[in-house]
Amino acid sequence: MADARISDSAGVASKRLPGSARPVVGVTGGIGSGKSTVAGLFQELGAGIVDTDAIARELTLPGQPALRRIAERFGTEYLDTDGTLNRAKLRRLVFVEPGARNDLEAILHPLIGDQVRKRVQACDAPYVLVLIPLLAETGAYRDLLRRVLVVDCDEQLQVQRTMERSGLSADEVRAIMAAQASRSARLALADDIIVNDGGLAELNRQVAILDARYRELASVG
Ligand code: ATP
Repeated sequence: MADARISDSAGVASKRLPGSARPVVGVTGGIGSGKSTVAGLFQELGAGIVDTDAIARELTLPGQPALRRIAERFGTEYLDTDGTLNRAKLRRLVFVEPGARNDLEAILHPLIGDQVRKRVQACDAPYVLVLIPLLAETGAYRDLLRRVLVVDCDEQLQVQRTMERSGLSADEVRAIMAAQASRSARLALADDIIVNDGGLAELNRQVAILDARYRELASVG
């Protein structure tokens, strides 16, 4: 079957952004599954992209209120000498201390949420993809999303691609994967699935099919 790799799931009730017919699609997937690559391909086809990781980085630049609050809570030892956030150090802390993770999320999530909603509203593309790596873990943005697209990938490939890109060891990548939602928990949220186990041509093919589907949704309102 030609399109067996893109499937529908009955899992999630579709919800609409009040007052807007533009489809908003949450994109999630495990570390190194290919979320950014997929988003780039959709963007080339004209999709609007809102990236929660990019927003988090912007909100924690020097001079931003979130960075001041992080320094107040965690100490200035989490800032580098030039005043920028030492992301690697903070990431290591929240990885081992759930309380620290909760506090960091309490500082960042409301601010990220405000920005996501503003950027979705301001976007004039036919449909918008919101990249939310931890959607399955947090359950965030369900009121905003019409559909959920999961980028799925063989776990061995995930490890390999993440190692190549990040320089982390296989054990380090596996530890991050173990702390993330399971592949099946993520897939249970999916309205649409992209299987990123092949090359870029295959990925492009799947993206083109979904682009047509989302444009169709946009046109029927
Ligand atoms: P993260 O969760 O770490 O932000 P991600 O899910 O956004 O990662 P990408 O950054 O898109 O994943 O992909 C991880 C790496 O794998 C990148 O180096 C990317 O170029 C590569 N990659 C992704 N998909 C493919 C593919 N189909 N073929 C070859 N390489 C790929």
